[in-house]
Amino acid sequence: MAGSGSFSADRTSAPRLRNGIVLAENLARLDEIAPSWLREQGVDFLVIGCPEDEVRWEAERLADFSRAAARAGLRRYLAPAGYGKVLDPDPAISSLYLHTHAHTLQVDSRGRRCARACPNDPRFLEWFAGSMRTLAWMVEANGFVWDAPSFYHSRGVWACRCSYCQRLFSAQAGFPLPQSLTTEVLDFRRQSLNLFLLAAAAAVQSVDRRLQSVIAPPAPLDPATDVSGADDWRVLAANSGAAALALVMAPEGRGYRLPDAGALQPYASAAAAEGKLLWLWLTAEELRPELVDEGRILARQLQAEAVVWSDYEGFARRKG
Ligand SMILES: [Zn+2]
Repeated sequence: MAGSGSFSADRTSAPRLRNGIVLAENLARLDEIAPSWLREQGVDFLVIGCPEDEVRWEAERLADFSRAAARAGLRRYLAPAGYGKVLDPDPAISSLYLHTHAHTLQVDSRGRRCARACPNDPRFLEWFAGSMRTLAWMVEANGFVWDAPSFYHSRGVWACRCSYCQRLFSAQAGFPLPQSLTTEVLDFRRQSLNLFLLAAAAAVQSVDRRLQSVIAPPAPLDPATDVSGADDWRVLAANSGAAALALVMAPEGRGYRLPDAGALQPYASAAAAEGKLLWLWLTAEELRPELVDEGRILARQLQAEAVVWSDYEGFARRKG
């Protein structure tokens, strides 16, 4: 590794941790990124954010960039965003689908449609699978990241109670879908999201069976995740479509520190128990050298095979 690489300080004898960088900039700005420079800095793979509304216009640029990254020796994982918002890493990312297919949106516990498609609606599933197949076909990649899958939940209002969810639930449980988030409903939502993720993995593998799926559930230690439908790592790890799970973490508090390995160990163990690889994914606003070291130590404690850094801008600023 050359230059002032952030990742060149690893001198332990343990297996080398792979380093990933998230590119969540506008696809139109991909031309400003030099894959060969990233490779020189010790980056092994890229997670490329693919917002639905941008992919429509920038697919060719995205495909060209991915090919250039491959030539530089970087693996590429595509992270679709928008696309009905079942995957919702960033609430600010829009989805044209939501405006054109209002009849497939989740219905909340007050009976209103929310700005998210229902993963149990077959019309949405068909469109989503088709969109992912197209993306997999257009852009040469090594895999897909399914980022922050979740059902709608806000201030005690939850979804989904659409006709498909009602029918599926009562067929499985033998009684109507309750009005409150009972244990059975929470479990139904978990199984529904897991089937959605399985369908997503199958869709891209129908184009190329080597395409790996990485599930990045919403941040595990965040209480909001408990009602997202993606809170049970034993369920997600058992998903036969997934090759890896990503543990999404943000440094917190005045010291801008990462959580202890002990708090995260149950998640790492759930992944390991199903033979799934673990990525430690750090959503840091500032990539300080101490944080890089701390992240590496934590990743080793959890036996992660990769660390993913979300701050490309901060990483690039270190170039000088
Ligand atoms: Zn539904």
